[in-house]
Amino acid sequence: MSELGSLGMECRENPGGFHLLEDECLVEVLDPKTLEPAAPGEEGELVVTNLGRVGSPLVRYRTGDRVRVAAQACPCGRPWRRLEGGVLGRTDDLIFIRGNNVYPSMIEAVVRRFPEIQEFQIEVDDSPGRTELILHIEALDDGVRDRLERDVQTAFHFRPMIRIAAPGSLPRSEMKSRRLVRKLS
Ligand SMILES: [Zn+2]
Repeated sequence: MSELGSLGMECRENPGGFHLLEDECLVEVLDPKTLEPAAPGEEGELVVTNLGRVGSPLVRYRTGDRVRVAAQACPCGRPWRRLEGGVLGRTDDLIFIRGNNVYPSMIEAVVRRFPEIQEFQIEVDDSPGRTELILHIEALDDGVRDRLERDVQTAFHFRPMIRIAAPGSLPRSEMKSRRLVRKLS
């Protein structure tokens, strides 16, 4: 949040979340797909316009952070809205597929059960009307495909497409985000 400046504070009376400093910024919580306001108590993307930073103005800056504004007033009496649980995660990491919300880390946990898989990449195809998840794996043993498919289906109730990639062909990175690719068509 270095771009935005101070954004919030936790109050002593009600820890585990933070009040937005609404005299420093205008805050919106929007559905990241429709950009309609989320109702109080609903999750959405934190969108901020800062007011106090003369040299670094930002207007309706999409933070990519998932937050939820508390529906009830805080017992501390401050009028500022309060984000329950602080930042809950990133909006762009969430994969919505067959009625499930799945994070890449949850899929990675299943893939890591198979030591035969050297590297992998998660591709999400968000074509209208149908989201597909394609798992590209580098594996020396082709037989891992069926077992991985079964384990993913057991864990998340959808069947992934699994494609075997040539050894060394998938990008190597310390950054987990490189393992998620989104295709919009
Ligand atoms: Zn409070």
